[in-house]
Amino acid sequence: MTAPAAARDAGLSPALRARLAKLGIASRFDLALHLPLRYEDETRLTPLAEAREGEPVLVEATVVSSEVKYRPRRTLVVRLEEAGTELWLRFLNFYPSQLKQMAPGRRLRLFGEIRPGFFGAEMVHPRVRVVEPGTPLPTSLTPVYPTTAGLSQATLRALIHSALDELLLDDTLEPERLAALGLPAFRESVLALHRPPPDVDAASLAERTHPAWQRVKFDELLAQQCAMRIAYAERRGKAAPRLPSRHTLTNALVKSLPFSLTGAQRAAWATIAQDLAQPHPMRRLLQGDVGSGKTLVAALAALQAVENDWQSALMAPTEILAEQHYLKLSHWLAPLGVRVAWVSGGLKARDRKKALDSIASGHTQLAIGTHALFQEGVAFSRLGLAIVDEQHRFGVAQRLALASKGQEPHQLMMSATPIPRTLSMSYYADLDVSVIDALPPGRTPVLTKLVDDERRDEVVLRVREACRDGAQAYWVCPLIEEREARPGEPENALQLKTALETYETMRATFPDLAVGLVHGRMKPGEKAGVMEAFKAKRLQLLVATTVIEVGVDVPNASLMVIEHAERMGLSQLHQLRGRVGRGTRESLAILLYHRPLSEMARARLKIIYETTDGFEIAREDLALRGPGEYLGARQSGAPLLRFADLERDEALIHAARQAATDLIAAGSPAVERHLDRWLGSRRFFLKA
Ligand code: ADP
Ligand code: MG
Repeated sequence: MTAPAAARDAGLSPALRARLAKLGIASRFDLALHLPLRYEDETRLTPLAEAREGEPVLVEATVVSSEVKYRPRRTLVVRLEEAGTELWLRFLNFYPSQLKQMAPGRRLRLFGEIRPGFFGAEMVHPRVRVVEPGTPLPTSLTPVYPTTAGLSQATLRALIHSALDELLLDDTLEPERLAALGLPAFRESVLALHRPPPDVDAASLAERTHPAWQRVKFDELLAQQCAMRIAYAERRGKAAPRLPSRHTLTNALVKSLPFSLTGAQRAAWATIAQDLAQPHPMRRLLQGDVGSGKTLVAALAALQAVENDWQSALMAPTEILAEQHYLKLSHWLAPLGVRVAWVSGGLKARDRKKALDSIASGHTQLAIGTHALFQEGVAFSRLGLAIVDEQHRFGVAQRLALASKGQEPHQLMMSATPIPRTLSMSYYADLDVSVIDALPPGRTPVLTKLVDDERRDEVVLRVREACRDGAQAYWVCPLIEEREARPGEPENALQLKTALETYETMRATFPDLAVGLVHGRMKPGEKAGVMEAFKAKRLQLLVATTVIEVGVDVPNASLMVIEHAERMGLSQLHQLRGRVGRGTRESLAILLYHRPLSEMARARLKIIYETTDGFEIAREDLALRGPGEYLGARQSGAPLLRFADLERDEALIHAARQAATDLIAAGSPAVERHLDRWLGSRRFFLKA
């Protein structure tokens, strides 16, 4: 990337440029969009005698004396007077030049808070300006900017103000459109935010509802909408391998299954099969509730690639899920002669090399693994299709970064978590979406019970009975913190301790049952061993941490106990509960809770008790938490929207989307100008 021309032109020192870069400022335009955190009112001079203590005020007075005192510590003390009222200034850190600046006889304009001091009324470290009597006051509020160490407000202000004076900040939008939207001109808006008049509605600035804020947010959203639209269109202009249906392997898989595809699976599969046959890269999100059978659709997609002699990759967010996929898909595909490889961070060097060699040579037809699959050193010979499971576990940034990884394989993303409307209209607007809206037949819905932890003994008995009857059960240990572990993040030590203790207690309580333990700190091989044993019914009760949250598929397991359910998020509870109810046996989820329950916990438990539909649960979850947090928790790094708020600015998103559609349809040159202005060097990021 070239150094931004504007910063270079301005003749800024490298150190200053580095500090600005820390604030995300790389151009003059970035300076103009570095908007204030708050404002100070220096437009009104308060007569010193009337200044009240503890409130920020602007006063003027004349220096009577200034001297450096050494006790109790080195301090510059300045005494001023104005119309018979005295004021003391104290500076603990100061430059010799300040002593000169505040020489006796000088008239100072001071901004700060007056407090009772040792000698009388004093200001500590006020903002100081030497003025001639009668120097005019500023006509706008003084902005206070977010800054970083080594960069003073004064420097930042000066830079921003000169940028504002030099930049045209002309409008990218026609006046008619602005009028229709009720938005002010761009230049006017930016200036209003940096230099608001003293009589501005301060609350509307703070809450970002002021028309100037609306305009800036609209422009930001418009840039995002245009970028997503263009990315979508550009993708259609890019070349990807055509992978048409040959119906050889795919049909063979369907025939080999002990069940037939659901109508919903068939429909999703038909769309994907068509996408793959196109000469441009697919970017499709496949949504379907927990247990709806997305894996099978992914397997069919991979087979279609194999039929055309291209490789596929399947990435899952956790080791345990990736391993499950590996086992399941090997089971399905190996009999068809398909060569499947396994890649994870936990592989021994030798095995890893073997797998990577096989992938690089093209021998491997389907590679399955964790994010290790897309790290450096992994080279595919002919990657035609990349599948990402549980894609909501990867952040928006990761998704976009993956898409920019050079080649143009087709991409299939899968998720059990529906994307809220504002998100699908913004961060996901470059994707096509399919939904599997029905579960396979013969599932008995999971019955959910909420049980007070005081009745734990009854639950324990229930588990024993069920296991004696040939059922299998999970016992899920509590989250210690009220937040979900991030992808790849192991449980914390306390959680691990609880799991170990629960395991010991269960073994002691049920000497007649085979009890297993699985947690995130186990070696991958150990984890796989335990899961295998559970699957093969050698274990009847599996004590687990939330590592089993996604993907784990043991149809015979029909009972799940979740401890401290009140600490868990809705989507997590739903995912966990989805581990049972996968077979024909009637399934039960027992959610143990501890009193007292917070309002939020009570609301969550009520929803999970009343609803089994994942989409409905997700909607309720969003209503409880708001999309801001929903996105924030998962979006690591790159904040793509700085000003607009998905939750509060939904109306603006709609307006921006409409405007983007119109402008692009009209072939307006405004689109390019707008994108350059707003995204500059960050544009590459969106080119999915
Ligand atoms: P998810 O959509 O949550 O990833 P899975 O793909 O893990 O769901 O499927 C859940 C279970 O349902 C698996 O055991 C899978 O083999 C089984 N399954 C998938 N499709 C069908 C079907 N059409 N009929 C019956 N069982 C199915
Ligand atoms: Mg799945």
